[in-house]
Amino acid sequence: MKYRKVAKNGDELSVLGYGCMRLPTKAGRIDKDRALSQIRGAIDRGVNYIDTAYPYHAGESESFLGKYVLKDGYREKVKVATKLPVFLVKKNEDMMKYFEKQREKLQIEIIDYYLLHMLNGDSWAAMKSLGIISFMDQLKKDGKIFNMGFSFHGKVEDFKKIIDDYDWDFCQIQLNILDENYQAGIEGLNYASERDIAVIIMEPLRGGQLVKMIPKEVKKLWDTADVKYTPAEWALRWLWNLPNVTMILSGMNVEEHIDENIKIAGIVEPDHLTEKELEIINQVKEQYQKLLEIDCTGCGYCSVCPAGINIPYAFQTYNNAKMFSKMQHLGMYAGVVGLTKEVPKWTTTCLDCGLCESHCPQFIPIRQEFKKVQSTIETPIVRGLVKVIRPFAKSR
Ligand code: SF4
Ligand code: SF4
Repeated sequence: MKYRKVAKNGDELSVLGYGCMRLPTKAGRIDKDRALSQIRGAIDRGVNYIDTAYPYHAGESESFLGKYVLKDGYREKVKVATKLPVFLVKKNEDMMKYFEKQREKLQIEIIDYYLLHMLNGDSWAAMKSLGIISFMDQLKKDGKIFNMGFSFHGKVEDFKKIIDDYDWDFCQIQLNILDENYQAGIEGLNYASERDIAVIIMEPLRGGQLVKMIPKEVKKLWDTADVKYTPAEWALRWLWNLPNVTMILSGMNVEEHIDENIKIAGIVEPDHLTEKELEIINQVKEQYQKLLEIDCTGCGYCSVCPAGINIPYAFQTYNNAKMFSKMQHLGMYAGVVGLTKEVPKWTTTCLDCGLCESHCPQFIPIRQEFKKVQSTIETPIVRGLVKVIRPFAKSR
């Protein structure tokens, strides 16, 4: 296993961290024996960082780690990371309430790496107004946590502001060969690491999209390389090639994948890819860009929409549906847009004001592109079905 140093504390973290969001399950619960053997097996082979969060596995992930994984001397072998569920914090006292619950579930005194979960510009502002800064300072002062960080899903400008707003030790961002310029992206990675803030990468395989279904055009390009890596290995190597990536978190639950990841994590060095390999990766990125029919970078500048339509989400889901599995993305989209709001914010509710287009740095004819969304993932049938399901979903 290779290790990389955290600038602010000197910790040598394994380049592969164990994400506990997608543990193997049996009858809807964590498959205890299998997950235990997988995680401890990875620790025995050098993984020294486990990442979990309050809501993972409907709250079971933290208790599972506390009850089983971190016993028998395993607590001492790993750094434990978990996250304050920012989205549940409504008042200052909630912060300590959740923190203490998490320590109790994990059955540990000190949380090595503590994160604010899923920050963006708005949630950071809300948390600051509730007194999060003095809360974080106090946790450190009392020795209840060692390192403070945040995981991020938002615009890169907000990421930089958050980085500048506090003396963070580390942060966690989404990065993969498709999302180089999405959310914090490479720009955010560089910004944080220039300030000695360790950067942990999540979604290195884009939730499995980069490995589950490979468009034939992309497969052809991978085949031109002299070395034969799997798409997963290419994706991981691209990230580990970046010297300022501290660690990649992988939510592993299949033994062969764990073996493969650990094997690669034992040999990768920063800047190890050859020029030719980097060129192939660039061609793959370009190919994916071509396949991405709507050239939306997800910057969110169009969030001024008075109708409340989540434009980047609609475009991202459309692209994913075209490139990967239509049914999977259609289902997710229908659930998120159709069932989670008081009133569904379909693209058909567009008021035709044009405000979004005047803000879009990519000059996307957004209203015109809505037609693509409406003919695939937001058809009258989808909207009709959601209308039928909504009363039942609401009464649950
Ligand atoms: S044109 Fe439609 S999508 Fe764009 S800002 Fe106006 S209401 Fe929103
Ligand atoms: S539609 Fe344009 S403004 Fe909106 S997220 Fe995409 S690129 Fe950004």
